[in-house]
Amino acid sequence: MPSSESSAQYSKATRLLAEAIGTAHVRTDEDTRFAASFDNSRYSFMPDAVVLPRHEDDVAEVLRLANEYRVPVTVRGAGSGSAGAAAPLHGGWVLHLAHWNSIEIDSAASMAYVQPGAITGEVDVAAAKHGLFYPPDPSSVKYCTIGGNIATNAGGLRAAKYGVCRDYVYGLEGFLPTGEFVRWGGPVRKYVSGYNMKDLWIGSEGTLGVITKAILKLIPRPTVRHTFLLAFDSDETALEAATALLAEHVVPSVFEFLDIQTVTCAERRNGFPVFPSADLGTKTPLTPAILLVEVDGHAAVVTEDSIRVRTWAQKYALAFRETGDAAEAEKLWNVRRTCSQAMFQLGNAKLNEDIVVPLRSYVPLIRFTREIKQRTRLATPTFGHAADGNFHIHIMYNRDDADQCRRAEEGIFMMMKKVVELGGAITGEHGIGITKSPFLRLQHTEAEINAMLAIRKALDPNGILSPGQIFDVTSIWNYQPVKVTLPWDKH
Ligand SMILES: Cc1cc2nc3c(=O)[nH]c(=O)nc-3n(C[C@H](O)[C@H](O)[C@H](O)COP(=O)(O)OP(=O)(O)OC[C@H]3O[C@@H](n4cnc5c(N)ncnc54)[C@H](O)[C@@H]3O)c2cc1C
Repeated sequence: MPSSESSAQYSKATRLLAEAIGTAHVRTDEDTRFAASFDNSRYSFMPDAVVLPRHEDDVAEVLRLANEYRVPVTVRGAGSGSAGAAAPLHGGWVLHLAHWNSIEIDSAASMAYVQPGAITGEVDVAAAKHGLFYPPDPSSVKYCTIGGNIATNAGGLRAAKYGVCRDYVYGLEGFLPTGEFVRWGGPVRKYVSGYNMKDLWIGSEGTLGVITKAILKLIPRPTVRHTFLLAFDSDETALEAATALLAEHVVPSVFEFLDIQTVTCAERRNGFPVFPSADLGTKTPLTPAILLVEVDGHAAVVTEDSIRVRTWAQKYALAFRETGDAAEAEKLWNVRRTCSQAMFQLGNAKLNEDIVVPLRSYVPLIRFTREIKQRTRLATPTFGHAADGNFHIHIMYNRDDADQCRRAEEGIFMMMKKVVELGGAITGEHGIGITKSPFLRLQHTEAEINAMLAIRKALDPNGILSPGQIFDVTSIWNYQPVKVTLPWDKH
């Protein structure tokens, strides 16, 4: 909470900003402020105003006044982030850039020039008109923005084959926290002039600069894909099979793992089994662990990869289905698409982490999730990207039950400690924000944190951009998330 002295400063600065860029672009009504007060994590912190800049000069003015009056500024895209990084923890101004959404394709250079508010899926649609492809595909692809993706270095389902957001950024334009305009990189494929500030901005969760333009790499669009859905009698056999496929150096474009707890939720929600018992060769119904595998590329490559995946499936899976038809593939995807929402049968709240572990730690990790299930007496459904070890581990609980909340909190701490012990990372794609700030010191030494803080201090001496995010420990357990339905909840 800002002090009364700060509040008076913020009010004065807000008045001056409205005079400078127009009252229509500085919103102070309750509804607009509330809508910008939280992201997908739903932890709400009210800003003093929401700023909708018209052009770059407005952004410069926002930062000039913010530095003069020490007003916190939180940059916002679509607010689909899951770590609370777009929540204005200490009030101040939300700099809303979702309406800056132009997309221009340079087909010959295979590049896209985009504003930060461009929706990720729309960049790919624009690329497709030129036979090009923008691969990064967070599951929120229909809603999230390129600015948010760059600031979180978003990953997605296709990351194992195609990489993450960082691998597709040639250049960035924007403003330092102190308000100066800068360009990092450019419309060139090679660039080693000076420090690599572009990559420092990528994944910095809105704390090191405001991105106002990006130059993105596009690649030739794959023309064919083939999809497999496989059943296994245990989580371990599924993960061991996944390791065996990777050892053959097949690189699927999608390689999703769903543990038995997750598949159980999806089957209950859908009202039918993913694989009928007859297919699994069992007399009684069996809920399997699942792998979803997709290969893509040119026809000849897909044919060859499909043969290798089929041979592997015949060796390891209890049963499998496959298709090269897009509509049929959608049916195979159903269990993956429904599993996240389906988990809410197990509790009205979930701790949803996006940890990443090395290949050798897949089986120890999944065993540990079940150990936590036993120790906390709370469900721990887990699914995720089997090719890069980025698993979404969950603890389901009832928020109204204080004892369950305590057990969930203890469970998630044990889980995060284990992930680090296994050589992994506490976040593979969502970032730290506020929700993972309690675990940051499990991952990093004091020296590492001090190095990061020194960079932040050098670029943002007045602590303007997203103060409190990442490094301050926010005990999110003490906050009640707001009850709202967000656009992606309906899918
Ligand atoms: C259903 C669902 C599925 C998801 N699946 C995935 C997934 O598969 N992979 C994945 O990586 N994430 C996933 N996410 C998380 C989220 O969509 C991503 O983190 C996304 O990159 C956030 O984009 P956004 O536009 O919503 O950003 P916001 O939530 O608005 O902001 C996120 C961060 O970016 C900063 N920021 C935004 N714009 C700028 C800018 N122009 N300049 C500087 N900083 C900026 C903000 O300050 C904040 O720190 C999912 C979320 C949902 C709701």
